[in-house]
Amino acid sequence: MLNNNFALVDESLLVPFNHTNCLCHVQIVDRLKALITDAAKHGFDVAIASAYRSVERQALIVEEKFTGRRVVLDENEQVLDISEFDDYQKISRICLFSALPGLSRHHLGTDLDIYPKNLLPQNKRLQLTAYEYAEDGYFYPFLAYMQENLAKFGFYHPYTGTNMAYEPWHISYGSLANSLLANFNLDKLIMFYQNSNYLYKKAAIAYAKLHYKKMLALV
Ligand SMILES: [Zn+2]
Repeated sequence: MLNNNFALVDESLLVPFNHTNCLCHVQIVDRLKALITDAAKHGFDVAIASAYRSVERQALIVEEKFTGRRVVLDENEQVLDISEFDDYQKISRICLFSALPGLSRHHLGTDLDIYPKNLLPQNKRLQLTAYEYAEDGYFYPFLAYMQENLAKFGFYHPYTGTNMAYEPWHISYGSLANSLLANFNLDKLIMFYQNSNYLYKKAAIAYAKLHYKKMLALV
């Protein structure tokens, strides 16, 4: 059978969070609300930059980067010209900050990118880059709050810099994420890529085989 869908979560379990257009897993809603309420008591007005993302959406992001319609950043968060690279090099550069379709924890509905919108200076645009959360960055107080309090609500930071790039804005509801990830199957993903019309499918298959654990923060 042609496998044209690769879902890590039953999409009927996704709900809009607090009347926003952010979708998340119904089982994390209460804990997320509790976290956001607690953060507010500490002076942080938490906003969600990104929650559930479909495989199709992720494929579009990767394709836009692959074809030069969306910027690719290097490890120092500077714009990188990948146009002269071969497909595999392009994919490996893109994957420093973007997961391949099927390999994003945003497919789970348990993972979110959050930031304290009241700490964003008026003249700044949200970047979600490490320097905003660095010790001299304007989001640092919120990072300190998260390090102290996330675990009380069942959340943690899966991307610590030992696997993918450090992403202090990315939080995960660990217990549910782990139970969903237990169903991840690399062979199914490769089959899905093979049946896809992704421009970068050969490179994606080679890259996924080597790096899927890192991308999903399974290690
Ligand atoms: Zn994220």
